[in-house]
Amino acid sequence: MSVDKLSKFFATTYENFPKGRTIGLVVLRTTLSETIFRTEGTGEPICREFVQAGETDPSIIQRLVMTKRKQVAPERRKGREFLRAESLLYPSKDGTFCSLNTNAPCEMCVDCFLYGFAAGGGGAQKSRIWTEDAFSLLPASDLIGDRTINAIYETGTMRDENNKASTALNTSEYIKPSVHFLDVVTLKDVTADEMRYIVGNILLTSRYGAVSSRVGRMENQILGIFGGIAELPSSLELVQSVHDAFTASGKALEHPLETQAIADVTKQVISDWINKRGVSVKLSDAEVSELIADVDRHWSEDERATFLKRLDSSYETFRKVPEEKKAKGKGKAKDTEAGG
Ligand SMILES: [Zn+2]
Repeated sequence: MSVDKLSKFFATTYENFPKGRTIGLVVLRTTLSETIFRTEGTGEPICREFVQAGETDPSIIQRLVMTKRKQVAPERRKGREFLRAESLLYPSKDGTFCSLNTNAPCEMCVDCFLYGFAAGGGGAQKSRIWTEDAFSLLPASDLIGDRTINAIYETGTMRDENNKASTALNTSEYIKPSVHFLDVVTLKDVTADEMRYIVGNILLTSRYGAVSSRVGRMENQILGIFGGIAELPSSLELVQSVHDAFTASGKALEHPLETQAIADVTKQVISDWINKRGVSVKLSDAEVSELIADVDRHWSEDERATFLKRLDSSYETFRKVPEEKKAKGKGKAKDTEAGG
């Protein structure tokens, strides 16, 4: 079983202290429609950054950036849809139900334990999912289009309450379909079930960016899974290495690139990462497929409720700790180091 092969790098149970167990995921994100990564209505441009093209190619190019926030927020929301369906989101201290981007995390649900929270009640949990900005392989100038659109009404639609179409115009910059972002995601001290939850969220999320528009379709593929004691090379190093490998192979680096070609070159680049500092285990392609089949099975209609409830109950003892600590007084709290 490929999940067992990573067992040394899984926590056996949730615990509050980091122990340097790291699972690294290499994710290829491909836009399947026009996509807009910016806060709607702000008019801010799509995020891009000047960086070195390759590790050996020193020329400077401007790449599109998919920020951490644009990755994690929709993925969290996806998982939370299912937690909500199973009544596994808890009331927060102010009485409302656990919600994102407010001051009301419940501090008890799977999402709070994994993705973290910092809020109201004085508690804090660091996220155990470390993402980084993901970069496009190709230069931004090849990947951006401009479109003039009817401005959206406050209702989020293009029609007013009398069903009249909006006549106000906006120019909107969008990322073209078939644009590829390469991404490294690091999971710190997670259990096998927590890994299944996170990988499920990544694979099940299909919409990113400005959510009220009919755009933003994206597919995520996991190309590599690693176990070790340190983070993998960064997303930027990965995209630079893939750029170099493409150039070396003589293949043209121009939009649109075939997804399979990028997947193949990326797999070739990460094939020797086993020798990088801190990486001990790399799953083979067959093992990655096996692990993803395992994740799919856990998220299937038949097993999802059981899986999510089991994951939820794994925090049960931990949820009680603060109460107990209070009851027993300060001196007892020796082995429950504060913080997360
Ligand atoms: Zn919560």
